[in-house]
Amino acid sequence: MIRTRPSGSGQRGGISGRLLIAAAVAIFALITYFSTRQTNPVTEEVQNISLTPEQEITLGQQAAPEMAAQYGGLSQSQEPQARVDQIGRAILRGSEAGTAPYPFEFHVLADPQTINAFALPGGQVFITEGLINLLETEGELAGVLSHEIVHVVGRHSAEQIARAQLAEGLTGAAVLATYDPDNPSSQQSAAMAQLVAQAISMKYGRDDELEADRRGVGYMAGAGYDPRAMIGVMQKLDEASQGASPPEFLSTHPDPGRRIEQIESAIAEQFPQGLPEGLKP
Ligand SMILES: [Zn+2]
Repeated sequence: MIRTRPSGSGQRGGISGRLLIAAAVAIFALITYFSTRQTNPVTEEVQNISLTPEQEITLGQQAAPEMAAQYGGLSQSQEPQARVDQIGRAILRGSEAGTAPYPFEFHVLADPQTINAFALPGGQVFITEGLINLLETEGELAGVLSHEIVHVVGRHSAEQIARAQLAEGLTGAAVLATYDPDNPSSQQSAAMAQLVAQAISMKYGRDDELEADRRGVGYMAGAGYDPRAMIGVMQKLDEASQGASPPEFLSTHPDPGRRIEQIESAIAEQFPQGLPEGLKP
């Protein structure tokens, strides 16, 4: 006599098998997330990060052209680009950010309408002509650039990617580890395109924004600019947001009133004897 298995047991085994695999993937993602805990050498924050600085640089460089294309490409005006380069370099020379292993590149984007600035991992910093035109002093420009430079050295994108991997079980680090920019396989190209899309649509957390504002205060002063200029930036963004659509820099960097308070308290904390003489506005 032939014994037959009761029907359906195979299917049940299949489901529990898949559940087991899903659980294993989730546990692996958790272990990966927490085993990547490390201290940021520049900011000394303890973070969960699965990318190496080299991988951050590769990702930023891969994503930069696509980011620029979304904002009308690179600006054709020489003057704002030269000014942004000069102020950006001064911030790097005058702060801990200059010791980070990132080849910083500052890009002015041609879009005159959009008021925005952002950073990709590994040192790619962007600011639109629209935002540059809104700003009145070099100190205000230094404030925006300092803020974005903190996002880079704070490795905020890499942190967000680690969180996303935890949620989705994605393996961005594995993609980047095997990615050869000069000779990618089609599978690697597809995986990289996904990572690039993730990097471009990245939203930082509120804590990241506050850290960028607070550390940015010190970076501005180190480059010879009055950190109170950042308060002027917030006020201008707030005014610009009274119109129909708020500036994007504010939609990803919310609540200018609260941020002004935080900036004032960061200045008071970092300069308890008062600000040095002769800072530029
Ligand atoms: Zn920010």
